[in-house]
Amino acid sequence: MRKSLRDEFIRAAARGVALLALAGVAGAQVTAIKAGRLVDPATGTIAANQVILVENGKFTAVGSGVTIPAGAEIIDLSALTVLPGLVDAHNHLALTYKEMPERNNYYITSILDPTPLRAIQAASNGIQMLAAGFTIIRDMGNNGNYADVALRQAIEQGWIPGPTIIPSGLIIGGMGGQFSPTPEMARDRRIVYPEYLEADTPDEIVKAVRQNALFGARVIKICVDCKPWGYTTDEIRLVIREAAKAGLKVEGHVQTIDGGKRAVEAGIWSIAHDNGMTTELHKAMAAKGVWRAGTETPISLTGHTTQVRFDRTVALLRDAWENKAPLTFSTDADYYVPGKTRGEVAIEFIETWKAAKIPNADILRAMTINGYQVSETEKVRGPIKVGMIADLIAVPGNPLEQIDALRDVQFVLKNGMVFKRGGVMLPAAFFHGGPVNGYNAR
Ligand SMILES: [Zn+2]
Repeated sequence: MRKSLRDEFIRAAARGVALLALAGVAGAQVTAIKAGRLVDPATGTIAANQVILVENGKFTAVGSGVTIPAGAEIIDLSALTVLPGLVDAHNHLALTYKEMPERNNYYITSILDPTPLRAIQAASNGIQMLAAGFTIIRDMGNNGNYADVALRQAIEQGWIPGPTIIPSGLIIGGMGGQFSPTPEMARDRRIVYPEYLEADTPDEIVKAVRQNALFGARVIKICVDCKPWGYTTDEIRLVIREAAKAGLKVEGHVQTIDGGKRAVEAGIWSIAHDNGMTTELHKAMAAKGVWRAGTETPISLTGHTTQVRFDRTVALLRDAWENKAPLTFSTDADYYVPGKTRGEVAIEFIETWKAAKIPNADILRAMTINGYQVSETEKVRGPIKVGMIADLIAVPGNPLEQIDALRDVQFVLKNGMVFKRGGVMLPAAFFHGGPVNGYNAR
């Protein structure tokens, strides 16, 4: 009874928001963006002197012959190159381990930092990512007690600016997850939890998937092989089946070749990390359309990889590209690098792609259109096309010629609102004293 009253209340509130939105249409402000150059990552081409119209947060016209309506607000980016927003397919916005005090050991961070603090870190990290041009983030767990979902809700409801968040909720794994808790921690105090959602049996797996779906996850993340017992191919299939009932895809953390084989055999949506990758697996991923989120740490982020590990990562990325495995840009960024924002840490990962000699157009595809597909936003958000939600960024250089141009994002438009202009963040328009975009319960 209480539940149905609450649902009725939410529906009534949603109707009110819809009426307000309709009322807004009558006096809709048109924004006209003059783009000196406009990149289409799908074709790897660039067009000069384009006009992009935005109305009610969506693109309404794109082209060279577009007439700017009288009274439109004009944003002159004729000196810049406009392109769609970037995607990081694997980040942890509510986790920030650091040299002091925890010596970059995230096991300790999960003990030191309570979820409310981590949620505020996530809000800040999200803003830093948006300022660097990342308009969509898949946030893949290790976020305390659903701080990732809280971030998604806060951004969607209109409390703060930030990228579109695709949160996984808790990472589902066998006992211990990626940690090695002591018996006291695991059985009695449970202080390493809720970093992982333990599910060892089929019943527990079903319940864990349902818990994440109920609490607002938009993708399911599992530990395929974090422990020797791991998940079998059939158990991964069970996760996929159960997640599908809630309309969710499954990403597998994979760290062994055998784990990679089981994940691909089961038909998983995406694989995180390159530890379990081989040429054979890359070919299988290409044949089955399994997304690769390799999280390729660059050697320039000192202390976060080794030369031997980096060389292997570069070789594997090159091998994946040569064998046409579906590539996404992913960072696994979850630490503080003094002097860098979270966005600057993330964009540093292009160094690995450069080292693997991936063509700029393909790096850009991994960072844009492939990112929209792995995030499942491609029908509503991502491409600069009529009808899409209006997200775009602009840089002085041409990323098709010099991918490092992406390091200098001067302009960011999110949901049709200016977030960054002339290299300066202008987030005021995104802050509200209430859920102006409607109250989404989960
Ligand atoms: Zn990760």
